[in-house]
Amino acid sequence: MNSPIWQPFTQMQTAPPPLKVVRGQGVYLQLEDGQQLIDCISSWWVTLHGHSHPALAAALFQQAQTLEHVIFAGFTHDPAEQLAHNLLAQLPPALTRVFFSDNGSTAVEVALKMAYQFWRNQGQQRSRFIGFAGGYHGDTIGAMSVGQGSSWWQPFQPLLFTTDLVDFPATFDHDPDVETKEAAALDQIEQLLKQHSHHYAGVFIEPLVQGAGGMRMCRPQFLQALAALVRRYDVLLIYDEVMTGFGRTGELFACLKSATVPDLICLSKGLSGGCLPLAVTVATESIYQAFASDDPAQAFYHGHSYTGNPLACATGVASLELLEQNSAYQTLETQHRRCLDKWLRDHPLLEHIRVCGTIAAMEVKTEAASGYFNAVGATLKARFLEAGLLLRPLGNTLYLLPPYCITPAELESVYQTIGRVLDSL
Ligand SMILES: *Cc1c(COP(=O)(O)O)cnc(C)c1O
Repeated sequence: MNSPIWQPFTQMQTAPPPLKVVRGQGVYLQLEDGQQLIDCISSWWVTLHGHSHPALAAALFQQAQTLEHVIFAGFTHDPAEQLAHNLLAQLPPALTRVFFSDNGSTAVEVALKMAYQFWRNQGQQRSRFIGFAGGYHGDTIGAMSVGQGSSWWQPFQPLLFTTDLVDFPATFDHDPDVETKEAAALDQIEQLLKQHSHHYAGVFIEPLVQGAGGMRMCRPQFLQALAALVRRYDVLLIYDEVMTGFGRTGELFACLKSATVPDLICLSKGLSGGCLPLAVTVATESIYQAFASDDPAQAFYHGHSYTGNPLACATGVASLELLEQNSAYQTLETQHRRCLDKWLRDHPLLEHIRVCGTIAAMEVKTEAASGYFNAVGATLKARFLEAGLLLRPLGNTLYLLPPYCITPAELESVYQTIGRVLDSL
């Protein structure tokens, strides 16, 4: 039967037909034809504890029998209150106010609008943002605008607002130039801020790891220097932790791992444990207070039909509990490194190997230029599927971002298979 479904991020004319998944269990996805795949990328980077986790299912079932949804303006409910409290307990204390939404792009739009209006409510017109080349912040117009480094957004260029892009000091194991790259990036930012600090509302960054841009990693030292610089010029620092949040970097949040504190943080993907769409933008008290006024025009006018959905919030509470009970995300870096050393470190086709917590990434050397449209990605993806692995290289960037329940033996088998597939290229 011909499917009427138009798929996301897919050239429908040339892509192979989508695979039908009938079941998910732990790290495994079972296809209609009976084939089992190991989900090495946590679906679209959302699944923290494995598929169909019983604790999340139970939380969802219980909440569905109690309150499935309610308008979130003028009303609240326990799952949202509890999730907000439990989240704040894990974040830096300077972050005090939780604004709910339902996907990562929207969490970024909210941060953009909050940052802009924060200044406006104080009589300052600051409409420019600084972003990083290679950054990805989602695919709504504002999120595309601050993530303009992405090659996907070329067709929409005329619709986007201007953002100043600076280099991201992407690094890897044994990178001799890391300090030079960091200094250059900081210098670019300082030049912009020095000239026009009062034009800038904020600086957007995916801290420690740029996700969709190719799992590009920077050092905590860079974020510390960036935070100090941005503070010095009195501009807001905005962390997009939509992907890096909830243990991905080996600690609960990249801000904790880097010992830095943003003014706004965007969270989504793992927030519900990968169960339901949910997002938050968390703000400092001074941002929140800048909206408090007798003037209705100073309020923050944003909110979606499904804001703070109780089912999603209940799974969020349950997912945070699982993270507190099980610290597997803290040990995956050691496992990645052990497997890399054993199976891939000296592979002639690989370079720029890097690991940050639960994420391992590397470049596959090809004749063609590096980047998302490098054709080796599609070839590899097909070969990995045949070998029972769900891996989705970003062009020639090969990465693993598994659910935290993957066992050492399963991870080792994944690496072994990757080595075999690379040998067959
Ligand atoms: C995925 C992602 C987004 C967008 O989230 P969606 O839920 O897909 O809208 C934003 N920022 C980062 C860093 C992401 O990885």
